[in-house]
Amino acid sequence: MPNNMKKTIVSNTQFMETINLAGITYDSIVDGPHLRTTLFTQGCPHACVGCHNPETWSFENKDVRNIDEIIASILSTSNKAVTFSGGEPFSQASACYKIASTLRNKGFNLWAYSGFSFEELLNGNEHQVNFLKSLDVLVDGRFVLEQRSLTLLYKGSRNQRVIDVQKSLSTNSIVLYPTEKIAKESSVKLFI
Ligand code: SF4
Repeated sequence: MPNNMKKTIVSNTQFMETINLAGITYDSIVDGPHLRTTLFTQGCPHACVGCHNPETWSFENKDVRNIDEIIASILSTSNKAVTFSGGEPFSQASACYKIASTLRNKGFNLWAYSGFSFEELLNGNEHQVNFLKSLDVLVDGRFVLEQRSLTLLYKGSRNQRVIDVQKSLSTNSIVLYPTEKIAKESSVKLFI
């Protein structure tokens, strides 16, 4: 292979950032208030008993997408809200952070689900901390089958917390998100 071609390939690999997805939906009404785009990342280390998405556990490549293309596709819809779900989004924190920080600068509302706790993520690696700090809401904690309830809003089991990330960071304590109030406001807006 000619040297100049080698350089091109190295350069493309270096700058092309990707994310491995299990799926993407552009019209979710269950992953947070309002109509949202939800990114389901591929790969999860938690192996919760009773998980609804065991097909997302494998870290093998499934749908590897260019990050800039994903951002462009999100911006092409009228949704101004995005949820990172999985799988475990914080296992691809660098890619998720790039998407989240771009959208945050454009005024998007950002939620993420994680099997890690807020405290674990705050003590995680640089990319996990950056991604966490770019969010409005984190739904944290592993799914616990014994604590499962179908009546819970935006979470699957009672141990999980719907956390207002920005207020929690500014007060240095866990501040829960007022899910009931927001859900009511959201449904009013949805059906006007
Ligand atoms: S964290 Fe979520 S995706 Fe991962 S095993 Fe638990 S319930 Fe399933």
